[in-house]
Amino acid sequence: MSGRTPARVCPVRTCVGCRERAAKDDLLRIVVIGSECVPDDRGTLPGRGAYVHPAVVCLDQAVRRRAFPRAFRAQGPLDTAGLRRHVEQTAQ
Ligand SMILES: [Zn+2]
Repeated sequence: MSGRTPARVCPVRTCVGCRERAAKDDLLRIVVIGSECVPDDRGTLPGRGAYVHPAVVCLDQAVRRRAFPRAFRAQGPLDTAGLRRHVEQTAQ
């Protein structure tokens, strides 16, 4: 096969951390269960999703600017500790 790739339109989402657009496949989908942000690795969990690069820097930016409560229209703060741990593990 040559280096040519078929011109397929792939879905693009905006990272809530750095606000850059990226292919959906390159971003981690986040959903909220209860008051906790959880990673949706397979993209199968129902409900509203937010997208972030699977990188600690992007996650921290998102947390700092309260992007998750805004994205999920949450009334209170959201727990991102477990999500951060997940990103730390997968980013390496
Ligand atoms: Zn990002």
